[in-house]
Amino acid sequence: MKSITEIYGLLSTPRRVAITTHQKPDPDAMGSSLGLYHFLRSFGHEVTVISPTNWASWLNWMPGSDKVIDFESFPDKAQEVLNQAEWLFCLDFNIFHRTKNLSPKLYDVRCTRILIDHHQQPDADNFEYGVSDTSKSSTCEMIYDFIVGSGHKDRINNVIAECLYAGVMADTGSFRFASTHAGVHRMVAELKEKGLDHAKVHENIYDNFLENRFRFLGHVLMNRMEMYYEYNTALIAISKKDLLRFQVKTGDTEGLVNYPLSIQGIKLAALVIDRDEERKWSFRSKGGFDVNAFSRKYFNGGGHVNASGGRTADSLETTVQKFLEAIKENASALQ
Ligand code: 5GP
Ligand code: MN
Repeated sequence: MKSITEIYGLLSTPRRVAITTHQKPDPDAMGSSLGLYHFLRSFGHEVTVISPTNWASWLNWMPGSDKVIDFESFPDKAQEVLNQAEWLFCLDFNIFHRTKNLSPKLYDVRCTRILIDHHQQPDADNFEYGVSDTSKSSTCEMIYDFIVGSGHKDRINNVIAECLYAGVMADTGSFRFASTHAGVHRMVAELKEKGLDHAKVHENIYDNFLENRFRFLGHVLMNRMEMYYEYNTALIAISKKDLLRFQVKTGDTEGLVNYPLSIQGIKLAALVIDRDEERKWSFRSKGGFDVNAFSRKYFNGGGHVNASGGRTADSLETTVQKFLEAIKENASALQ
């Protein structure tokens, strides 16, 4: 993989560009894709964002989200964009399987693939150019670095600022995680100087839920959270019945896994959701327990040291049993 800096000199020649990100895009995935979309369009590039799946409706305030193609709903339209693209940017993921059913199409494209991502262990052979940096708080921060590095900071406007701020805010847990290095605050200061209304972005993301999501949260914390104090672990398992009862939609479970980490002594929080096609795991940790390694070893996943995800075809009961065995095996690391 060649350095992303080699792209800088090519930016001023208009091209057909596709941008894609991981399935069920979160604020960092959507914000980085749309931030880059608006930046590239300012040069006259013809840009299209393709999402592998649908996304939470509370991301629809983001400028340009109405132009994003949902591959699952419009596969032919997305395929046409991929056929015509000269560049394909892959943002906020580093291995094609994170795009679910879009994955085989990404292997097939003939255009130049460019990676911008902050997860561990990138599949670098699949990208011609790119930057992979796990010290970055978010992919949105990396898009900001890309814009500044290319010498076009002056093109950052309020629209780009809103998209990038949303991702960096969400991925840093509103600037509280250890990943919030000084450069993150400097970036936000610069975005503020571009006219960013950060309170509006915060409200759009965090004060934009429907009642059912709060009722669901109450139910989950009351009835579905199991504590395993001998392993400093909390587990939330959500059945299909729960999802139906509270009419849970894409995005409604976002952030749920973080709640148990606020309990004194808890070092590992795990959430498993019984989705139609798979059981989806989320892991969060405090301190040295490496949930990237844990998820890779037991649940076909990965991510970062303190935040990772995984998946399995096992039933909910079976995968919960496997999780309980896995934490026993890791008892000493969880002390
Ligand atoms: P989440 O729990 O929000 O789905 O994922 C937590 C973090 O781990 C996110 O940064 C996400 O991108 C990453 N992640 C989730 N699933 C996977 C996976 O299967 N592989 C890798 N490499 N990262 C993942
Ligand atoms: Mn991210």
